[in-house]
Amino acid sequence: MSIELPEAYLLAEQMNEELIEKQIGSYDLKNYERLQKIGFLNRNINEFDLLVDRKIISILSRGNLIRVVLDKEINLLIGPEYGGIISYHKDKNNLPEKFHLRINFTDETILTIRLKGMGLIYTIKDKELEHSYLYKRDFSDVLSPLEENFTPNHFSELLKGLNRGIKSILVGKDAILVGLSNSAFQDIIYRAKLYPKTKGSNLSEQQKKRLFDSIKTVVNERIRLGGKFQFVDLYGKKGQYIPAMGPNMKAATCVNCDSVIEKLSVGGGQVYYCPHCQAE
Ligand SMILES: [Zn+2]
Repeated sequence: MSIELPEAYLLAEQMNEELIEKQIGSYDLKNYERLQKIGFLNRNINEFDLLVDRKIISILSRGNLIRVVLDKEINLLIGPEYGGIISYHKDKNNLPEKFHLRINFTDETILTIRLKGMGLIYTIKDKELEHSYLYKRDFSDVLSPLEENFTPNHFSELLKGLNRGIKSILVGKDAILVGLSNSAFQDIIYRAKLYPKTKGSNLSEQQKKRLFDSIKTVVNERIRLGGKFQFVDLYGKKGQYIPAMGPNMKAATCVNCDSVIEKLSVGGGQVYYCPHCQAE
């Protein structure tokens, strides 16, 4: 997954720069039928009509999800998840061939959204938000690494008594943090020098601190460098962040110790790691 919390945050920030107060004139949907069948778009495609004439009030992001808040209690949820592309265009020149939703603003600027793999493009009323799986997953009570109360002490408290693997602690539906997936996980535990199957309850205070610091570093560096390298921002600019560990290190050697990187199946996904620096 190349769009996680840092990239969703970057996109939402850029959208806030460009889109506030804009009014939606019309929209086009293209090649959406397959996605709609899987539930990535509204079942009733006419619900996109709710967008017309609406003004953009704010753009929020939490976890991997972007919520475009419109007037009259309407929202557009965008979950680019597996590398979706959201692009802003000042005019009709150089529009991308491929998109699933195109939003035409009354000032003639345009926003196009294209999903790749899994994701979400959903028009939804405020009162229906609680029925959206991704909304409930990300706009939840679960702590975000970008929030002020993500502190070493708080993190250590949350870890207390968790007798399960650190992957399920950091990634997925039972995670104690929102917005991290398998990709960030590999990067984080390599930096923290932790074996991928370590149990939360076995972490020393020092390891907990390293884990906390690594989460901070990965999230903040990904934001600072404009996202992960496969990511493309609102203006088509590529991210510059290269993970310290992940599929990009396949068949490579560890930069710290020269050991050959290995792969382990953990919690339904492949995790690349250094068998020396992250010894069991
Ligand atoms: Zn190593």
